[in-house]
Amino acid sequence: MAVRRIILANNPILRKKSKKVKHFGEALQVLIDDMVETMRAANGAGLAAPQVGVLERVIVVQLPEDEEDPQSGQLFALCNPQIVRADGEEQGEEGCLCLPGFVGDVKRATSVTVKAQDRRGKKVRIKAEGFLARAFQHEVDHLDGILYIDRVESPDKIQRIVPPEEVERETVEIKAAL
Ligand code: ZN
Repeated sequence: MAVRRIILANNPILRKKSKKVKHFGEALQVLIDDMVETMRAANGAGLAAPQVGVLERVIVVQLPEDEEDPQSGQLFALCNPQIVRADGEEQGEEGCLCLPGFVGDVKRATSVTVKAQDRRGKKVRIKAEGFLARAFQHEVDHLDGILYIDRVESPDKIQRIVPPEEVERETVEIKAAL
C-alpha cells in the first residue's frame, strides 16, 4: 500500500468524467488499498479516484467513529456508485482534500440510497443519512467532474479555516481555481 499524491482543485483532471470500472483485478485492488491509505493519511472522510489522478469510478468513505452512529467507522470501498434515491434537503459544511484549508456550506439530500459494486464486483446497496449521505454525494460528484465549490450558493459561503502561512502554496493555487 502507498499514499498517493492528492491533486489540487485547479488540476483539470478533477473536471473530467471518470470511466466505469469493468475489471475487478489486481490493479483495482491496489488502487483501492492506496486510496484508503491516502484518505487516512490526510485525515479525510472520503476520497474519489480522480483526486489521486485516476479517472475511474471508485470511491472510499470512512467517517470517524461516533457511538451514536452505527455506520460511522465503517469503511466503504465502492465501484460504479450511483445515487438511486435522494430524499430531503439540508445545508451543511463540507471540505475537500483537493481544497486544503477551506470549507463551504452546501445543500445536499438528507438521505440517499447508493447502488454500487464492492471491490470484487458484487452488487451492493447502501442506505445512508446525514454526514454519511453527504460524503457519498460529495464523492460521487467527483466522478462526474463536480466539486463542492460548484454547489455553494455564493463565494462568501466558502471560508478559510487554516492560517494562510500553513497552506501558502495551496492557497495561491486554489485562488486561481476559484
Ligand atoms: Zn472532495
